[in-house]
Amino acid sequence: MKRRTAIKHISAGLTAGLALPSWLSACVPDENAPEINYNGVVGIIGAGAAGLIAADILIAKGVQVKVFEANNRIGGRICSLYRTSAPTESLIFFPGNYPYSDFPVELGPDRINGSDSKWAGLLAVRGVPMVNFRSQSTNRYIVDNAAKTEADAMLNAGFASAKAFYDSFTTFSGSSTLSVEQAALAAGVPASQLPMVNSLLGNPFGSAASNIGARALAEGLALVEHDGTELTLRNNPMQDALLNVYSRVVPSIQFNTVVQAVNYSGDAIEIVHSGGTETVNKLIVTVPVSILKDGDIAFSPALPTAKLNALSRLGMDAAMRIVLEFKRNFYGEDVAAIFGATEAPIILNPAVGRSSLNRTLSITVFGAKAEAYSSMNPDDVVLNILAEMDAWYGGDATENIRRSTIPEENNKLLYTIKDWKKDPYAKGGVSYHLPGGLLADREVLAAPMGGKLFFAGEATDFTGEAGTVSGALKSGERAAFEVIDAIING
Ligand SMILES: Cc1cc2nc3c(=O)[nH]c(=O)nc-3n(C[C@H](O)[C@H](O)[C@H](O)COP(=O)(O)OP(=O)(O)OC[C@H]3O[C@@H](n4cnc5c(N)ncnc54)[C@H](O)[C@@H]3O)c2cc1C
Repeated sequence: MKRRTAIKHISAGLTAGLALPSWLSACVPDENAPEINYNGVVGIIGAGAAGLIAADILIAKGVQVKVFEANNRIGGRICSLYRTSAPTESLIFFPGNYPYSDFPVELGPDRINGSDSKWAGLLAVRGVPMVNFRSQSTNRYIVDNAAKTEADAMLNAGFASAKAFYDSFTTFSGSSTLSVEQAALAAGVPASQLPMVNSLLGNPFGSAASNIGARALAEGLALVEHDGTELTLRNNPMQDALLNVYSRVVPSIQFNTVVQAVNYSGDAIEIVHSGGTETVNKLIVTVPVSILKDGDIAFSPALPTAKLNALSRLGMDAAMRIVLEFKRNFYGEDVAAIFGATEAPIILNPAVGRSSLNRTLSITVFGAKAEAYSSMNPDDVVLNILAEMDAWYGGDATENIRRSTIPEENNKLLYTIKDWKKDPYAKGGVSYHLPGGLLADREVLAAPMGGKLFFAGEATDFTGEAGTVSGALKSGERAAFEVIDAIING
């Protein structure tokens, strides 16, 4: 069988296997039966979305895998808050006053872009209930210090120009050295609207608009062809949903195993980790770019210059999720998101379509603002955000924020904060292009080395979905088939 035909054949078999709910797959021929004759072991560093899908594909083909995971859980940046969660330096919440939201609190991703995306597809075939919240909600925009509907905000010429810049952004083809902010100013967006630009086109992509390269971001977004829907999981924590999809990988995972060095100079690859030294025959690296950039894993020989150059043009900044609960909903039951604030660049209402209480807001902050928040007293972070919201809602935010009812706790502010910068195995939020970078940098980072070393993880997605769960899954799938290709064709 020719190389391309072989890979296509394997790919089709696997997709058919994945597409069946587990209760049904027992009744059909086992399309995941081993097809590859390989005595070696494939190592995978990281049990996030990218590592799990790669492992699952290889296991389905009868290849032996060993997944080295630093943490004591699967999921990486897919991370849900549980009653069993313990507060840590990077996770601040008050177990005695556990959030009372009537849906799972997510500390990482909670939105799925596109019902036709990779992640939505995997969940749909397993019958995981999802909510198309966009069909039942609208946005608010902070214009003239008030939260306005889009129609009202459009009466402001400055907002209208920021919105026009956003709507046509995928066609941006200016210099690759311009930041999103510089590109907006060059397009005539007034400086007063830069918080809006940051909120729409900076923060959602991992940093401030002043720090993200406009050209590379636009190049990537132009490739995405989803149906425009946005989904949340109706009832299930996202970490549970991921486990449901990839449960068969779990026996192959070595938890609490921090990889410190990879020596790929010989025939086999030597992995030095917190529990000892092991050898594998091929290795997929899926760790975040922050880990690679900080040299937390020593590669011997060092990674090639082309990869290091590509890495130097990718950033990964601090990221913080702040979940606030209120005694009543004063911002609107059908408000999906509030854009344009400076203290809280994106405020999402994760309750739409899945909560009868609808009193929880989920704020995501990336970049310099998250960096500053990371070194502040968390109470002050929350007070900053409340003060900004009070200006739009006549003091309702401070008046209605949930506080402890335990008498000796003195009316303590209650909130949940995940500070991703302080998570030692993430060290930040998502990868983004620095000014001067190009989409091709991700392809260079993703390129396999010598049929032995392979790269996956959201940062290596070059189909425009970097920084998302679907992008991570697609990268892991790509890397698994690169490994299969190397096994079959040498
Ligand atoms: C606050 C926030 C909000 C987000 N919101 C969304 C959203 O709404 N929708 C969306 O689609 N995406 C969102 N994302 C992005 C999404 O979470 C990621 O793109 C995706 O989960 C990345 O998966 P991954 O497998 O590439 O990396 P990771 O999930 O980071 O997995 C890498 C794994 O490697 C492990 N590891 C690290 N170092 C080592 C080591 N030395 N040895 C062994 N193991 C190691 C880590 O513990 C981790 O498990 C968000 C991210 C953040 C931080």
